[in-house]
Amino acid sequence: MNIEVVTTIPELFDQFKEYGIIGRAIKTGKINFDVINLRNYAHDLHKTTDDYAYGTGVGMVMKVEPVFEMFDEYLKSHQRPWIVYPSPQGETFDQSKAFELSQKNDVMFICGRYEGVDERIMSIVDEEISIGDFVISGGEAITMVFVEAMARMIPGVVGKEVSVENDSFFSGLLDHANYTRPRSYRGMDVPEVLRSGDHAKVGKYLLKDAIKRTIEKRPDLFLKRDLSFEEKAAIIALLREKKEC
Ligand code: SAH
Repeated sequence: MNIEVVTTIPELFDQFKEYGIIGRAIKTGKINFDVINLRNYAHDLHKTTDDYAYGTGVGMVMKVEPVFEMFDEYLKSHQRPWIVYPSPQGETFDQSKAFELSQKNDVMFICGRYEGVDERIMSIVDEEISIGDFVISGGEAITMVFVEAMARMIPGVVGKEVSVENDSFFSGLLDHANYTRPRSYRGMDVPEVLRSGDHAKVGKYLLKDAIKRTIEKRPDLFLKRDLSFEEKAAIIALLREKKEC
């Protein structure tokens, strides 16, 4: 899949592109990741991409011309991408939005700064997406979060050392607890069953744990869920265990 990020601070993505799952996805060609420097489309000496807000004169607003010129140039050699403007005024991002974006061939993120963008830029934007009900100073960190979440959904991006299916929200349940060595640390032991090597038992245990955590931490998610046969069985087992305690 192709991902483009339009930003006035391309340097912020230098490390992001190199490391971890994103770095590997880029190196193996699963993702083509291009960072477009909006300042290349500013014509004055200082490469200005912002200006005073009409009306109030308070605060700076991202100018329309560099974005439109960048887009004209882009369209000369590419198909029109799906354009996302990270914005506190959009719908809130979640796992299903990450999946939806990961299914597209080409997504372009336009990172806002200052008070936001000139409203006329919205005429080329397909979707505004928010990270939550708070405001930060720029779309770059937010775009990184969106791209990280989307990338996990692209087949082959996450190796078998990480399991996307078990991620919280993927199946509508939170992830079960995870442990690694040592098996005992400061009096805290890894649950016996996880060390048993009995895959069927381990599977049942992990499902019970995921259900228990979801009920405890996010009952709202649990209430929305249509339970499978295995999940109902896991709940019965949990209740029986409780009775025995
Ligand atoms: N004045 C604007 C916020 C501007 S913040 C408003 O109140 O709507 C500057 C930029 O940071 C925005 O253009 C956007 O790209 C990004 N940003 C800030 N908070 C965000 C959030 N919660 N979700 C998505 N993008 C956000």
